[in-house]
Amino acid sequence: MTRSISILGATGSIGASTLDLLRRNRGAWKVVALTANSRVAELAALAREFDADIAVVADERYLPQLREALSGTGIATAGGAAALCEASARPVDMTVAAIVGCAGLAPVMAAVARGGTIALANQEALVSAGDILMSAVERHKATVLPTDSEHNAIFQCLSGNRFVDIRSITLTASGGPFRAWSQDQLATATREQALRHPNWDMGAKITIDSATMMNKGLEFIEAYHLFPVELDQLRILVHPQSVVHSMVEYRDGSTLAQLGPSDMRVPIANCLAWPERMETPMASLDLAAIGELSFFAPDEERFPATRLAREAAQSGGAAPAVLNAANEAAVAAFLAGKIAFSHITVVVERTLQRSIPRGPTSLEEVLEIDANARVWANELMEHV
Ligand code: NAD
Ligand code: MG
Repeated sequence: MTRSISILGATGSIGASTLDLLRRNRGAWKVVALTANSRVAELAALAREFDADIAVVADERYLPQLREALSGTGIATAGGAAALCEASARPVDMTVAAIVGCAGLAPVMAAVARGGTIALANQEALVSAGDILMSAVERHKATVLPTDSEHNAIFQCLSGNRFVDIRSITLTASGGPFRAWSQDQLATATREQALRHPNWDMGAKITIDSATMMNKGLEFIEAYHLFPVELDQLRILVHPQSVVHSMVEYRDGSTLAQLGPSDMRVPIANCLAWPERMETPMASLDLAAIGELSFFAPDEERFPATRLAREAAQSGGAAPAVLNAANEAAVAAFLAGKIAFSHITVVVERTLQRSIPRGPTSLEEVLEIDANARVWANELMEHV
């Protein structure tokens, strides 16, 4: 049976992994909407290849180019933020939410509002608007399938168990390229060094987040919203080999873990086929070849990001949205060569020291908090 699918952020790393799986299962999927921010040529090529119903470019300035690239194909085109949400609201069996940053929140909310099934990779949406997003999921009877590798691992480890029996959940972290670096070395880390992740091939923003460990901080908040646990039941463990993708401990002393290669096609396939399983090109896990798995407690002196995220989650209200926005602004500034690597978390911490607004109650309020926090973070960056 053919199922319909839309991919928000089709030109990114998660988008590419998803499309690779679809390519291997041609005929199983009907592509409805594909979206991108600005890479029009790539978007148009994908829309043609998968014979999408509609291609949407978020940055409206590129719409004329997209129209031209798809003229005569019968594929509809659209541009801008509203068009992105409209495309996301089109009925499909599965929406893959793979836009990076809070920019993905409104389109995710549009998919939620039609009660869709959403494979959610876009962690920033959940960090910025966790309560609003999850209550909308409940209200509209939508389904969120966790696609982030750790959350997908947890999701799999929870299957068949009762939530009341959970003692703790442990998110594993690779530790990133600077895991063994001293504080002094961290101060000199360059963009190129930070972009070289030891285990995963991902978009630039999340790769920098992995280097600062803010990725694990965002995932901590993400896990809190996705799973029925309190903050003090959530742990972080550094595991450089990225083989154990996360674990759930039950009250009888059993710990369940999910293991696999460091390839996002595994968790994406789990979401695409859920509750069944599908074939992927992954080789079998060869633990004898890997030999050893190691685990370390995180060092929050050198990598304060997980502490900042935990504190933001404890404060609640708008703090997680401010944390996320300040981090997005600081990472963009680091990538543009404007601030040093170690200043990313300094900017986030100082932004969180501003008076934090009360918890947002609507999507509009989240977006306003997000915009204001970016302004604050950019002001602070002048002085770090
Ligand atoms: P990426 O940078 O490779 O791709 C991002 C996609 O979003 C692109 O298609 C881009 O066109 C689109 N986009 C960017 N800015 C946009 C905007 N303002 N409006 C609309 N669209 C926009 O990122 P990625 O690595 O694929 O990550 C996507 C999301 O998945 C992120 O939230 C990331 O944290 C999460 N995630 C990624 C991985 C991974 O392995 N790449 C793993 C876990 C979670
Ligand atoms: Mg992850």
